[in-house]
Amino acid sequence: ATKVRFAPSPTGNLHIGGVRTALFNYLHARAKGGTFVLRIEDTDLERSTDASTQNLLDTLKWLGLTWDEGPEVGGPEGPYFQSQRLDIYGTYVQQLVDDGKAYRCYATREELDALRAALPEKERAHFVYPHIWRDRDPSEWPADKPYVIRFKAPLEGETTFTDKVFGKITTPNKTVQDFVIMRGDGMPLYNFGAVVDDMLMHISLVARGADHVNNTVQQVLLYQALGQPVPDFAHLPLILSPDRRKMSKRDGERLGIPVSVSEFRDRGFSPLGLMVYLTRFGWSHGDQELFTMDELIEKFDMDQVTSSDGVFDMKKCVSINQKIIQSDDYTSMDDYLLHITPFMQARGYDTTDTAFLRKVAALVRPRAATFVDAAAALDFFYEDTVTYEEKAEPDLHKDGAKAMLDGIADKLGALPAFDVEVIQTTLDAFVTDNDLKWKDFGPTIRVALAGRKGTPGLPEVIEALGADRVRARLHAAAA
Ligand code: GLU
Repeated sequence: ATKVRFAPSPTGNLHIGGVRTALFNYLHARAKGGTFVLRIEDTDLERSTDASTQNLLDTLKWLGLTWDEGPEVGGPEGPYFQSQRLDIYGTYVQQLVDDGKAYRCYATREELDALRAALPEKERAHFVYPHIWRDRDPSEWPADKPYVIRFKAPLEGETTFTDKVFGKITTPNKTVQDFVIMRGDGMPLYNFGAVVDDMLMHISLVARGADHVNNTVQQVLLYQALGQPVPDFAHLPLILSPDRRKMSKRDGERLGIPVSVSEFRDRGFSPLGLMVYLTRFGWSHGDQELFTMDELIEKFDMDQVTSSDGVFDMKKCVSINQKIIQSDDYTSMDDYLLHITPFMQARGYDTTDTAFLRKVAALVRPRAATFVDAAAALDFFYEDTVTYEEKAEPDLHKDGAKAMLDGIADKLGALPAFDVEVIQTTLDAFVTDNDLKWKDFGPTIRVALAGRKGTPGLPEVIEALGADRVRARLHAAAA
C-alpha cells in the first residue's frame, strides 16, 4: 500500500520548501489512493516550539493538505510526535546493541575535540570517529558514566539505493563513520528516529528535500541492520533564492521575499496559487501553467520529478497567483469572497452587507494580483470620504472641471432609475451635449468618486456607489 509522510521539525514557521515537500507527498498519496502521514520530528527540545507546531498544523489546514494519520487525527501507529515515542526508540536501540550492531561510546566531547585538534589543519574538517569504543566488549562498559550509542557501520563493501529523482546512488561503506544514533539523554538522532518511525509507520516512499540525500546511506544501513525492507526514496530539488543559495528566512528578508507560508497568506496569496507555483520546483506537465487541485492529483507523478534546483521568482509567483484568483475555473466567487473578507475587516470595514461586497469585489477582481490587492482596491467603496491620490488630485482643478462635476452630479442625481445601462447613456449624452472629450471627463469623474484614476468601469462604479454617494462625492470634489 502507498504510504508517504511529511516529517517536519517544528523549529520555525512552515516555509515554502516544506510546503513543496508536503504537497508532493500529499499529491502522491491522493493519486494512488494511499495514506498521507504527518509526523512531528520534535526531538530537538531546544529548538522545537509549540508555536511552530501550531503554525505547521494551521498552515497545512489553510493549504488544504489534510493528513490521514498524525496530530489531532491520530492513527494506528501513533503517537505522531517523536518526543512521545522515546521508549520505542529505546527498544530498537537495545535490539541493535544486543545484536552487536551498535555500541556504547564513552568518548567525551573534549576527548574527541582534542583528537581532532591533533590532526593537521586541513584534515580537521574530515575528522572521523576513530572507533575508540567500537570493539570493546560490553563487559568493559562503565556502569556509571555518560555515553552515546553509535552505529557500527560496515568497514567494507558499498551501499546502493535507487532514488526516484537522482537515480542510483552508491556509497563506499568505509566513508560512513560510526554515527551517533542516540544521545546520552535518550534522545534519538534524526537518522535513527526517522528510520524507526518510517519502518513502524510502514512508509513505502520517503519523499523529502534533496538536502537529505546524503543522510540516506546511513538510513539504508539502519534498515538493513534492523532486518527491515528499505522504502523507496525521492529527493526533491531545492528552492533557491535569486542569488542561488538555499532559500533561508534571512535571505528572504534581505531580498523582500516571503519565506514562511504565513507571510504569503498575510500578503493575500491564495493557497492554490502558492501551491501551483511551488509544483514548478521539480515537476511540470507539458507547458500547462495553471491547475486545480483535482488536476494536480490526477497529473502529478513522483516518477517525473526532475533533479535540477529552481530559483524562486517572485514575479512569476505573483503572476500565477493572479491568474488563479481571477478565474472561476480555479477560484470560485464564494472562495474569493471568503479570502477577501478578513482583509476587508482588517482594514476596518463592515462586511455584513455580503451582497454589496459580492458586487464590488467582482468589479475589482480582474485587476487584483492578490486578495490584499483586491481589498485595497475596494477602499473607496467603503470609506466615508474619498482620499484623493496625490498624483490624481490635480485633475479636479483643471479648467472646467468644477462645472463638469456639478453638471454630471445633477444629471445622475435626477435619474429615476439607477442601473448601469441608464448611467452609461447619461454619461455619453453629457459628454456629447457639452462637447467634452472622454479623456478629460472619465479620469476626472473617477478621481472625484474614487480618489484615483484606476478603477473598474465607471457606470459600474457609479451604480455600486449609489445615487446619494455619487452626488455627494461629485459636489464635494467640485467645491
Ligand atoms: N525532520 C526532518 C526535516 O524537517 C525530516 C527529513 C525527512 O523527511 O526525513 O528536515
